[in-house]
Amino acid sequence: MIFIKREFEAYLDEMDKITILLPMGSYHGDSATFTLLFEETTYHLEIVDKKTLPNMVKYICKAETTISIGSKYMVADAHGRKTDLQIGAVIRTEAFDEAFFYDKNDLGAIYQKGETSFTLWAPTASAVKIKLKAPKSKEDIHYSLIREEKGIWRITVQGDLEGFLYTYLVCVNLVWREAVDPYAIASSMNSEEAVIIDRERMNIPKVPLPPFMEATDAIIYELHIRDFSSHPKSGLIQKGKYAAFSEEPEPSPEAGETGLSYIEKLGVTHVELLPFNDYGGVDEADPDKAYNWGYNPLLFNVPEGSYALDASDPYSRIVELKEMINTLHRKDLRVIMDVVYNHVYIREDSSFEKIVPGYYFRHDEHGMPSNGTGVGNDIASERKMVRKFIIDSIKFWLEEYDVDGFRFDLMGILDVQSMKAVKEAVNIIKPGAILLGEGWELNTPLAADRKAMIMNAKKMPEIAFFNDMVRDSVKGSTFNMFDRGFALGNTHKTHLLKQSLSGSVQTEPNTKGLFLEPTQSINYIESHDNHTMWDKISVCNSHEDEETRMKRHRLATSVILLAQGIPFIHAGQEFFRTKGGEENSYKSPDSVNHLDWQRKQQHLENVDYLRGLIRLRKSHKAFRLSTTSQIQQHVRFPVEKGHLLMYHLSEVNTYGKWNHLLVIFHNGLLTETLALPLHGEWEVLVDENVASDCPIRKVQGEIQVAPISMVVLAQY
Ligand code: CA
Repeated sequence: MIFIKREFEAYLDEMDKITILLPMGSYHGDSATFTLLFEETTYHLEIVDKKTLPNMVKYICKAETTISIGSKYMVADAHGRKTDLQIGAVIRTEAFDEAFFYDKNDLGAIYQKGETSFTLWAPTASAVKIKLKAPKSKEDIHYSLIREEKGIWRITVQGDLEGFLYTYLVCVNLVWREAVDPYAIASSMNSEEAVIIDRERMNIPKVPLPPFMEATDAIIYELHIRDFSSHPKSGLIQKGKYAAFSEEPEPSPEAGETGLSYIEKLGVTHVELLPFNDYGGVDEADPDKAYNWGYNPLLFNVPEGSYALDASDPYSRIVELKEMINTLHRKDLRVIMDVVYNHVYIREDSSFEKIVPGYYFRHDEHGMPSNGTGVGNDIASERKMVRKFIIDSIKFWLEEYDVDGFRFDLMGILDVQSMKAVKEAVNIIKPGAILLGEGWELNTPLAADRKAMIMNAKKMPEIAFFNDMVRDSVKGSTFNMFDRGFALGNTHKTHLLKQSLSGSVQTEPNTKGLFLEPTQSINYIESHDNHTMWDKISVCNSHEDEETRMKRHRLATSVILLAQGIPFIHAGQEFFRTKGGEENSYKSPDSVNHLDWQRKQQHLENVDYLRGLIRLRKSHKAFRLSTTSQIQQHVRFPVEKGHLLMYHLSEVNTYGKWNHLLVIFHNGLLTETLALPLHGEWEVLVDENVASDCPIRKVQGEIQVAPISMVVLAQY
């Protein structure tokens, strides 16, 4: 970093407003006049405001000429001192956004055999160069880019540049910075340079799946690429790699069936993978040294290198990721990509900040970068070129990698308009792709009504939200270890449980409902964040024995799998995943994070039970109603007393073979006898031991419900 020493400072803060800061040290910060110099011309600056600050005097001046951003201006005071006019807060004005919005789709490097053209958006730069390096060469070649309209810089370089490495050198406010192209689609190891690649060579035939039309048909399984294979008994050879997904290991006595076939047989429909675009925190040259979940985004359109067999070969990660997605598709498993457009790893080091300083991030009223994300920077999605970047990136992953949905990390940082624009773009390319996000309310400088948070869910009817009301009413608060939800024995959360089972939509005239439609509710009780449910129950219900706690765990997951909305389960939740009590394992070793296939084998009975519930959910559409009006019409709660809640899907034979479905949830410690509604026999599909989509036995009149268990009954 080079610091320029200036006698005083002048900033362009609005298109025609210049802020001048004169230090007290000389002339007591006084200057009767200021002028603006451009080439041979001098313009008068009108002083419109003057404020004395502790060490300096601040002048606000109005320019009488239109300032051309990117050109070199000087400001002179009455004492003959001069300074360069720096780009200031103007960069965050709407006028700037209007003036420099560039809507074409040629940003980045476009390779052809004979030439490669490079296009960069850098409106505040006064000069831009490209630094090119042949593969394995140490020598750089520099070329200057030519400025065009809308802040675009461009050059076409002759010759076959496949495999060449490149970075940009960008001069803003007299400081040169070196940055990797944010539109890069390939990179060298550890994202040091972008790499020019031949897209023909990354062209692997896709394995297309039919459109997935109703989001409530989805059952999402959240998984980390490395955790999937890293356990010593996984039976998978290419541990921590994309390639492990294509292995088909023989079952072993200790771990049974492992790998993707196991997930396929669970019956889930979507595998949601923690971030697999390039991130920091793991050395791609030696991934075993560190672990990371991946929420440190570096290059948004490049696959992460630590999961590749050879991170030094730019094609390796691309081809292996595509093969992984194809393998998932062959097993009818769709892929949801976890994307982190709300922040970057380190703001100062990011390409965004180096190329257009100040533009891509939100700033508070004091001009300091805001921190609603808790990681030191918030991306300003509401600015036009930021929104465009996000949409371009989403389209790229959809078209190039054929992913089937996106999970937006800290979506509450992003703005409503951007999320709606993302959905529109997605609908054109892949209708039925699922968009979900963390709609938490975060302290970022954006008007509350513009934040893409759960409270504004009704403004974004096609986007789904992690439903913390479901989470907390079934399991208990995530942030208060000792708060218990229904499954953990609390009988005071039954009204919330009813809302949870009803898709959190409006069911009665005087209740509001969180969402417009059940397709917006991601029903979950465990994800990669916070304690696993097993670890929470172990602390929260430590007075109960292990068998009882397992029943509670199973009951909680059962609610999720039978509630209206979209069920979401964390990998390993089906076998009581534990992280040994660790609350935040984002960089804990594999021994904490890995998917423990041996534990799976020890708890196969629970896996089978949940697999049966998944089959049941898939067998009758009444469990997956896709509209609020259907829920209003068919969902009833005829019994609600103490530890029991009866959930009745009434007159649903238009959705499947049974006309009535009864689900009884019981969180108490004593066996209960319950009278059944309606006349005639009921078929028992699920009891405390077995879960199936086929009848186990028949009952009439009443049923006994075992301690901490669930029963599902069906009638034609
Ligand atoms: Ca990386």
